[in-house]
Amino acid sequence: MFTSFLIKYAEIGVKGKNRYLFEDALVHQMKFALKKCEGKFLIHKSQGRIFVDAEGEFDYDGAVERLSRVFGISGICPVVVVEDEGFERLCETVVKYIDDVYPEKNKTFKVNARRARKNYPKESMEINADMGGVILDAYPEMRVDVHKPDIMLNIEIREKIYIYSEIIPGPGGMPVGTGGKAMLLLSGGIDSPVAGYMIAKRGVKIDAVYFHAPPYTSERAKQKVVDLARIVSKYTGPIYLHVINFTDIQLYIYEKCPHEELTIIMRRYMMRIAEHIAKETECLGLITGESIGQVASQTMNSLIATNEVCELPVYRPLIGFDKQEIVEVSEKIGTFETSIQPFEDCCTIFVAKHPVTKPNVNVIRRHERNLDEKIEELVKTALETDELIIVE
Ligand code: ATP
Ligand code: MG
Repeated sequence: MFTSFLIKYAEIGVKGKNRYLFEDALVHQMKFALKKCEGKFLIHKSQGRIFVDAEGEFDYDGAVERLSRVFGISGICPVVVVEDEGFERLCETVVKYIDDVYPEKNKTFKVNARRARKNYPKESMEINADMGGVILDAYPEMRVDVHKPDIMLNIEIREKIYIYSEIIPGPGGMPVGTGGKAMLLLSGGIDSPVAGYMIAKRGVKIDAVYFHAPPYTSERAKQKVVDLARIVSKYTGPIYLHVINFTDIQLYIYEKCPHEELTIIMRRYMMRIAEHIAKETECLGLITGESIGQVASQTMNSLIATNEVCELPVYRPLIGFDKQEIVEVSEKIGTFETSIQPFEDCCTIFVAKHPVTKPNVNVIRRHERNLDEKIEELVKTALETDELIIVE
């Protein structure tokens, strides 16, 4: 019965010129989201609203599911669209609409008409009153409540007439593409996919980098990261995933530096390499899944050490989250099951029994000097052999 959706979006902060950028980005992301959905869809902007019209048969549940992942959408209203065949005919349609959508009639309602086409013979207030009367006649159990109705029955008079009353919640946030781009350090864990999701929700396009250490990390560990990127891309749009071979760098650090500092020094090289790719690809920041105190390399002291090697801001949206809170988001967005697959992680291969929890930056810098020029070469090679996977 529904052939259209009215898309609601938060208007705060999108006044004036920015509004067009916001709306255009939203339409673009909606088109992308519906690309793989069965059906033909026309997305159009009209008088400060965005509509999705389905032409012919379409996958209703699939369309709703996909739209409910598009950041910037606060609500999705399924709409019945009818031709204007006079007010009486409209009343019949509305009475039938109520019966179809609300089999249980013991509810309060309010008619909220909007006459977007000014030559319609009745004004909004008149439509509200007359239509309200017709509904009460048809369903005597229903009552009017103009303040907090159970059913807000919206009727918009345009070229055609739009009837809707249900709102399916959207994810909120800002459309991806309105906030620049950032580079996500994506591992196969629970945290980093959630971190990427959260920053993308603020309108930021995401690229990603994964540090792979074959043969210590397997092809399946890499595939898991690609799978995670694919799940995140359902929300963010295509992700350019850079796979960096980190093995030689890792082995060389292992050879030259104290083992309890290995993780920190490795993380510093990950940040340096990620920043290098970020700058080359016009990213405005880095994103990690770090949270204070979660592991030795994420204490405040450790974060000083990993932070100081880059100039770009490092966004850590999970910084104040407990593990359980992160798990809840990861379940909600659908990455959890993939994240817990047991494949080795390059950070855990060479971990020391007692990693430093309060690294001293000066000491770390001094030990990094053991790495001399050879490390530069290894970094250069790693960058040159960057494998780009476009995930969508
Ligand atoms: P996650 O669950 O995201 O893997 P974690 O709790 O295992 O996080 P760490 O291993 O200390 O934490 O990593 C902290 C952050 O560093 C990760 O959230 C991720 O952003 C980044 N990171 C760690 N390992 C890699 C890797 N192999 N490739 C890319 N980024 C990584
Ligand atoms: Mg990890």
